[in-house]
Amino acid sequence: MTAHRDTEVAVIGAGYAGLTAAAAIADAGHDVLVLEARQRVGGRVWTLDADGVPLDMGGMWVGAGHMRFRALLDRFGIATYPTPATGSADWWDERAARLRRARPLPMPAWAIPFVLPAMARIEHMRRRTPPDQPWRAPAAERWDSLTVAQWLRRWIPLRRPRQVVESTLVLSTCEELSRVSMLTLMAFVADNGGLMRGVGGAEEGADQDLVVGGADGAARRLADLLGDRVCLGAAVREIHHGEAGVALTGDGVRVRARRVVVALPPPQVAAIRWTPALPAWRRSLVERVPMGSVTKLMAVYGRPFWRDAGWSGEVLDAAGPVSSLFDVSPPGGPAVLASLTCGAKSRELSALSPGQRRRRIIDAMVRWLGPEATTPLHVADVSWEDEEFSRGGYAGVPWPGTLVPSARLAAPIGRVHFAGTETATRSNGYIDGAIASGERAAAEVLALLN
Ligand SMILES: Cc1cc2nc3c(=O)[nH]c(=O)nc-3n(C[C@H](O)[C@H](O)[C@H](O)COP(=O)(O)OP(=O)(O)OC[C@H]3O[C@@H](n4cnc5c(N)ncnc54)[C@H](O)[C@@H]3O)c2cc1C
Repeated sequence: MTAHRDTEVAVIGAGYAGLTAAAAIADAGHDVLVLEARQRVGGRVWTLDADGVPLDMGGMWVGAGHMRFRALLDRFGIATYPTPATGSADWWDERAARLRRARPLPMPAWAIPFVLPAMARIEHMRRRTPPDQPWRAPAAERWDSLTVAQWLRRWIPLRRPRQVVESTLVLSTCEELSRVSMLTLMAFVADNGGLMRGVGGAEEGADQDLVVGGADGAARRLADLLGDRVCLGAAVREIHHGEAGVALTGDGVRVRARRVVVALPPPQVAAIRWTPALPAWRRSLVERVPMGSVTKLMAVYGRPFWRDAGWSGEVLDAAGPVSSLFDVSPPGGPAVLASLTCGAKSRELSALSPGQRRRRIIDAMVRWLGPEATTPLHVADVSWEDEEFSRGGYAGVPWPGTLVPSARLAAPIGRVHFAGTETATRSNGYIDGAIASGERAAAEVLALLN
C-alpha cells in the first residue's frame, strides 16, 4: 500500500548530510520528512554490533580539522579516542616476504630519495592551491587535464618507489590514479593542510581519532530526534518539480512538499527519474562523478597480539591483493583491526564470493602479522560497490577534465536543493563535509521558507 504524505520540506537520504539538514529545518520549526532507501540511517557510515563491540564498516575516522563532526559528537556527549598507531605504519616487503618498520616512509631506505622530490613538489603546489576554491589555483586547468598516474610517472620514474606512493594515494582517493586528476589530488591535499595529513600516518591528520561506540552514533541520535519524520525503506524513484512544489514517488510512499533537499551521492541523483529532466549540464556533471571503490574488513581479536612483536598493526602492502591494515582498538577495550583496499583491487575482491573475499583478506593479515590473525573472534566485511544505495565509496571521484565540481553540484534547481559530501568545498568526501553540506542546504531552504 502506498502512503501519501504532505510536508513543507522533504529530504532524500538519511546519511549525515540529509539528517543534519532535516534536523536544522525541524529545529527552525518547519515540517520535514526524510525518505531513506535503506532500513537504517547513516548511509556510508554504518556501525555493526559484534557482541557489544562496535565495528565501523564505513566511515570511522574524525580528522583533526573536522570541527563540524566534532561539534555534533559533542552535542550528543559522544567521545572520541586517538587512533592507536598513527604515524608508525609498517610495510610489507614482498621481495623478502616480511614486514618492516617505516623509517620514516613505508618503503626501502634506498627508494626514499626518489620520492622526496615529488613530495616537495606537491607541497609547493599545495601552497598555490586555495583550500576553499582549489579551482582558482593558477594552474588549475592544466592540473585538471593531467592524471595523477601521468604526473607520478614523470616525477618518480622508478617503478618500485612509485608503486608505494601510488598505493598510498589510491587508499586516499579510493580510485585508480589514471582516473584521478592532479587538481582533485591538490584539492584533497590543500583541504587537509598537507599530503601526509591527508594520506594518514601523521599527527593532526585525517585519521587522528575514532568514535567511542562507533561513527554512526550521532546519526542515530539525529534520527531519534526526528522520530517518525524519518521514513525507512522508502527509496525515491521519481521527482516531479515545478513552480508549485515537488512530488516524490518512492517505494511505498508518495510525498508532496514545497521544497526538497536531495542528500545523495551523484550516481544516486542520476538514478532518479526527473520530470522535467535535469538540465543537460547537470546530468553530465553527476555522471562525471562516479564513486570510488572500497572493500573494508573489520576483525576483533582477544588481544592486540601484533604489539608483542613490536608491530603497530598499521600495514601498507603496495603489491599484494589487499592494501592496508589499521589498528583501531579502543583504549582498554577489545583488539580491533580494520583493513581497507581501494580502486581496482577492491573491484577484484568484490568479484569473489563473500567467503573467498573474506578468506583472501584474512590470508593477507596472516601473511603480515602471523598465524594468530587466522581466527578472529568476530569478522565482518563489505565491498561498498555492491551496496545498491551507495555504489561505492569513500566518495564520488570527478573524472579528469571536470574541474572541482563541488560548488556546481551544490547549486539548487528551482525548488530542489542539493546536499551530500560531494557538494562540500571543505572536507569533501568526509563525514565532516556531509555535515557541512547539510547545514548549507538547510540554510538555503530556511532563507526561502521564511
Ligand atoms: C569504507 C568507507 C570508509 C570511509 N572512511 C571515512 C572516514 O574514516 N572518515 C570520514 O570522515 N569519512 C569516511 N568515509 C566517507 C564518509 O562515510 C562519507 O563521506 C559520508 O558518510 C557521506 O555522507 P552523505 O550523507 O553525504 O552520503 P551517504 O552517507 O551516502 O547518505 C546518502 C543516503 O541516501 C540513501 N539513498 C540513496 N539513494 C536513495 C534514494 N533513491 N532514495 C532514498 N534514499 C536514498 C542512502 O541509503 C544513504 O543513507 C568513508 C566511506 C566509506 C564507504
